[in-house]
Amino acid sequence: MIRLEMLNRVRTREEVWDFIVIGGGATGVGCAVDAAARGFDVLLLEQNDFGKGTSSRSTKLVHGGFRYLAQANFSLVKEALQERAILKKNAAHLVRKQSFIVPCYSLRQKFFYGAGLKFYNLLAGKYGFGKSLILSKAETLGKLPNVRRKNLRGGILYFDGQFDDARLLIDLVKTANEQSATVLNYAPVFQLTKNENKIDGVKFRDAETGEEFTAKAKIVINATGAFCDAVRELSDAKCEKIIAPSQGVHLVFDEKFLPSGNALMIPKTGDGRVLFAIPWHGKIVVGTTDTPVETAELEPRAFEEEIEFILQTAGNYLQNQPQRDDILSVFVGIRPLVKSSKSKSTAALSRDHTIEIDGANLLTVTGGKWTTYRRMAEDTVNQAIELGNLPKKICATQDLKIHGFCENSEAFGDLAIYGADAEKIRELIEENPILGEKLHADLPYCAAEIVWATRFEMARTLEDVLARRTRVLFLNARAAIEIAPKAAEIMRRESGEDENWANKQLEDFVAVARNYLSEMVAKKS
Ligand SMILES: Cc1cc2nc3c(=O)[nH]c(=O)nc-3n(C[C@H](O)[C@H](O)[C@H](O)COP(=O)(O)OP(=O)(O)OC[C@H]3O[C@@H](n4cnc5c(N)ncnc54)[C@H](O)[C@@H]3O)c2cc1C
Repeated sequence: MIRLEMLNRVRTREEVWDFIVIGGGATGVGCAVDAAARGFDVLLLEQNDFGKGTSSRSTKLVHGGFRYLAQANFSLVKEALQERAILKKNAAHLVRKQSFIVPCYSLRQKFFYGAGLKFYNLLAGKYGFGKSLILSKAETLGKLPNVRRKNLRGGILYFDGQFDDARLLIDLVKTANEQSATVLNYAPVFQLTKNENKIDGVKFRDAETGEEFTAKAKIVINATGAFCDAVRELSDAKCEKIIAPSQGVHLVFDEKFLPSGNALMIPKTGDGRVLFAIPWHGKIVVGTTDTPVETAELEPRAFEEEIEFILQTAGNYLQNQPQRDDILSVFVGIRPLVKSSKSKSTAALSRDHTIEIDGANLLTVTGGKWTTYRRMAEDTVNQAIELGNLPKKICATQDLKIHGFCENSEAFGDLAIYGADAEKIRELIEENPILGEKLHADLPYCAAEIVWATRFEMARTLEDVLARRTRVLFLNARAAIEIAPKAAEIMRRESGEDENWANKQLEDFVAVARNYLSEMVAKKS
């Protein structure tokens, strides 16, 4: 994928697009894949980098959602478990089965969680990932050697899915492009155009040059997640806000705190949420919180109370407790929680997501979760087809393999995450063995991945490469700052830029990366 080619497609296009999708997160890219795979002409516009919003900041789970089980919302759990299986089938290189242990400190807990997780499995039916098991105390300690021993009565073992969110997103962007969608990052939409009070297109800016474009479409889909009210206001300045943003913090630690490869799940923390500690790329991700915030920001920061809460809760369940100095990275995502909607079409859908169509035909889709992005897209495109009186083409994503699909990607070692693309990255290394050098002793990434991302994945900034094409910033913020000069130089050479460009990239990246250091907390107002 080459960005200039995408821009040229927009420049030279004379026909009206079937769909313009605003927002390059899981929801928007999912809609672009779905619509393009049905044979529609699609333009996707993202204001920053693909996945810059919530979609690179999740807990990295492909799951049914234990909290919905507690709320007795069984159909939602069942649907998500089906989507979990579809995603595993179509993105086998990215979704892996992960074992989780729920430690139990009373027989009541053991019975309650044991029964709950058996039921979770039952709901999955033929889509199950493996049977849950009730463990003795000794078995629990064997699987979670660092778990708190005092009063431990045993545990429950169950299985769910785990993935790399930003990597899946990039592979979905590539899938959309392979299905003929035009996909553009750094293209903020600043105006919706109308004809007889109905939206007929958008105005957007190329954030790199400032050039402005007008693009016309039969239907405009607003898939801007926690930012969707700002786009709804472009359609109707007086519309009632539907999003109540809430942030979730994750802390990243060395894997020594969970050395067995099993994840830890605490079903009910002090604030009534679920807390996970999950192995991820050789580290442990622990989270999350649920803190209402005034506005959605692209680079949200953790509050001191949130960091303390996670440290304390994790510490309650681990013998060797992680301390503040052990935090390698802090990352924060904003939930697009829907507070109300007077949608004419939402009521029909008993789902976790909301689809709203306003008086000017702007179709907004928000809420939901990563796991159900495909189903959200299917519902959205179905609604959009009706709204735009477009040909009724059937959804084709149930069996559509996602870019990079391959069965045995573990054979590619540290490059496994790229699936079939790993072969091509290996070729880059064969051509120039220096590119095989690791970027940092603590991390699995090598220089060839920076070349690959710059050349073929529309990475435009150092942050794109270190935060979302590789996950260096999310795994170890200090290491990210250390390797930034070297990474900037590789990118500069690859993109033919000058030293001023590299210096500016470095400066911008370090400013963002500081937010991922545990000492850079925000003050609660
Ligand atoms: C803390 C946390 C943990 C989570 N964990 C999980 C999990 O483990 N599993 C799971 O299934 N789900 C999880 N979720 C839910 C999941 O991450 C989100 O539902 C999903 O990522 C939302 O995607 P989105 O595309 O709607 O929003 P986003 O990813 O935020 O994408 C919206 C995009 O729109 C862009 N945009 C905004 N305005 C404009 C404009 N004017 N022009 C162009 N572009 C614009 C933004 O830059 C952004 O990239 C989690 C969510 C949170 C907050």
